[in-house]
Amino acid sequence: MSQILIAEDEERISSFIAKGLRSAGYSPTTVGTGREAIDLASTGDFDLLVLDLGLPDRDGFTVLHRIRAMNITMPVIILTARSSVTDTVAGLESGADDYMAKPFRFEELLARVRLRLRSETGAADPTVLSHGDLSLDLRTRRARVESREVDLSAREFTLTETFLRNPGQVLSREQLLSRVWGYDFDPSSNVVDVYVRYLRKKLGAHHFETVRGMGYRLV
Ligand code: CA
Repeated sequence: MSQILIAEDEERISSFIAKGLRSAGYSPTTVGTGREAIDLASTGDFDLLVLDLGLPDRDGFTVLHRIRAMNITMPVIILTARSSVTDTVAGLESGADDYMAKPFRFEELLARVRLRLRSETGAADPTVLSHGDLSLDLRTRRARVESREVDLSAREFTLTETFLRNPGQVLSREQLLSRVWGYDFDPSSNVVDVYVRYLRKKLGAHHFETVRGMGYRLV
């Protein structure tokens, strides 16, 4: 299981990332300062680092320099405010592999994590996800039910992908909201129910079971 270090001082964001990574099958560890990030990274126990640039004790670039100076080559994905993307792109030359502008949806970060870990290990990630008669081609972004092609919006596609990556598992509204819409989304919103309705209409109602008081499950 890949060990992922998350250096982020904003509790709301670090727990959002840790929860998502755990449910995607990774083993996350969170720290809130640059010093702890450097200490833990230097153990060599981690496969990837998610690094916030705005840490309270030292900025992310300093952490990155220190880590690279110790010859630690694990992939690093930087988290940055959308307003400082230009600085960040410059910073990529200093040894980061990728960046995410905040706010972001969990699935966007997960895609980058998978990509970076895959290029490390050389293992292939599936390009087609399927369950029963439902299948999703991640490369062409097409959905099929039996052999019939179905048009999905970007949001519907990501929601379907989340279900297909967790078949048979109950996903709460909160989990779906944070994974598909992002941590900045109003938790009282009924947008998940609305989109599950869309998916039922397009892909067949029997695929998406309502688990009362808990959420939804792909069956
Ligand atoms: Ca921060």
